[in-house]
Amino acid sequence: MSRPLTLALMSAVDTVTETPLGGPSLPQERRLVTSIPGPRSQELLDRKSGAVAAGVGHTAPVHAVAAGGGVIVDADGNSLIDLGSGIAVTTIGNAHPKVVEAVQAQVAQFTHTCFMIAPYDGYVSVAEALNRITPGDHAKKSALFNSGAEAVENAVKIARKFTGKQAVVAFDHGYHGRTNLTMALTAKSMPYKSGFGPFASEIYRAPLSYPFRDGLSGADAAKKAISIIEKQVGADNLAAVIIEPIQGEGGFIVPADAFLPALVEWCRANGVVFIADEIQTGFARTGEMFASEVFGIVPDLITTAKGIAGGLPLAAVTGRAEIMDASHAGGLGGTYGGNPIACAAALAAIDVFENDGMIQRAREIGAILTERLGGIQAADPRIGEVRGHGAMIAAEFVDPETGEPDPALTAAVAKACIAEGVIVLTCGTYGNVIRFLPPLSITDGLLHEGIDVVAAALAAS
Ligand SMILES: *Cc1c(COP(=O)(O)O)cnc(C)c1O
Repeated sequence: MSRPLTLALMSAVDTVTETPLGGPSLPQERRLVTSIPGPRSQELLDRKSGAVAAGVGHTAPVHAVAAGGGVIVDADGNSLIDLGSGIAVTTIGNAHPKVVEAVQAQVAQFTHTCFMIAPYDGYVSVAEALNRITPGDHAKKSALFNSGAEAVENAVKIARKFTGKQAVVAFDHGYHGRTNLTMALTAKSMPYKSGFGPFASEIYRAPLSYPFRDGLSGADAAKKAISIIEKQVGADNLAAVIIEPIQGEGGFIVPADAFLPALVEWCRANGVVFIADEIQTGFARTGEMFASEVFGIVPDLITTAKGIAGGLPLAAVTGRAEIMDASHAGGLGGTYGGNPIACAAALAAIDVFENDGMIQRAREIGAILTERLGGIQAADPRIGEVRGHGAMIAAEFVDPETGEPDPALTAAVAKACIAEGVIVLTCGTYGNVIRFLPPLSITDGLLHEGIDVVAAALAAS
């Protein structure tokens, strides 16, 4: 049942007058005026459980009404420190003024023609920008889509068409999305796959380099993975290898240095397309424009999404022109792919990434996170490892006696942080990792305060 229109309008006006606009002008402070959730948030959560499918979960029990800089404000007037950026999406900050301006101009111009019907400048400009800023100076082309999973699906399509082969290798702890093909590529059963099969065929899994747990050098880990790929799949059948240069959902696992270069080299020698899934790691997040640069690799194809457009839904596959051009006209695309509003947002966001010191800022944030979390780890052996690059840092929680993962402690710390007004996200195959993905627009002061709250939550757990 819908509410009477006048009532709905009145409460909308009500919210607007009481709530500051988003963006960096929001007061940059942690402010708790109710417990979390407060009564207005609880009201929304009750409506959510009545109206939204139970499978769509949430991390923080709040009713968000504004966000910007380093905070998310809820309907009760609480201001929470944001250390998650909506899963590495609002990297340049929520409601960034340049994105807001670009979107407002475009939405008034036209909202959709379908790029496959009547092409427009924004799509082509985003493709040109991606071809320019992704690693490697070879000739590149791009195609745009709506979500990360859709980009991954298309990268696999493109690699299969180019090679005429079918098999795809993904890695332990890998995450590539929730659609059918990407579920098959994703490693973890709960919550991503359990009960949702059957899965796409011709997907194989290889072991990752996970220095904290396998103790192998990058070269040895690569040798092990390549041996399994050769024995169980065979290069003659293999279209593509897909890997996140630093795994996201899998636990911010940073492979040992030589691992990725050895895989790329093997792929190149064996006619296999190397796909770097940079959906979480891309766009300055790791202190480089792309995480591939951290390891000195040049992928054949790169999938991007998340941080690309300052919060609007956009995704891309970018790669070697001859691979990207292997598909016949009409074989790639989609009704909304490269929507003009999302493209306008992406062009504004890419301008910010390139020209407003974002890579430097990611490195500064990484230095603060690494130093502070390292200090906490030195005094508390329940943190087994602090790892990551740039503004993509994680702490892995373990039983100090056995080194076994401690998901219960991890969940307790994360929950306590949120109750204290700091949004942190967990991840990891074993659910024992807290990941820090702050917006690069966060102030040093708020970042330190957020870490203080994490430290206190850990001490009390
Ligand atoms: C989030 C993510 C995806 C899926 O992106 P969606 O936009 O949620 O479909 C794929 N790969 C990686 C590495 C991701 O982090």
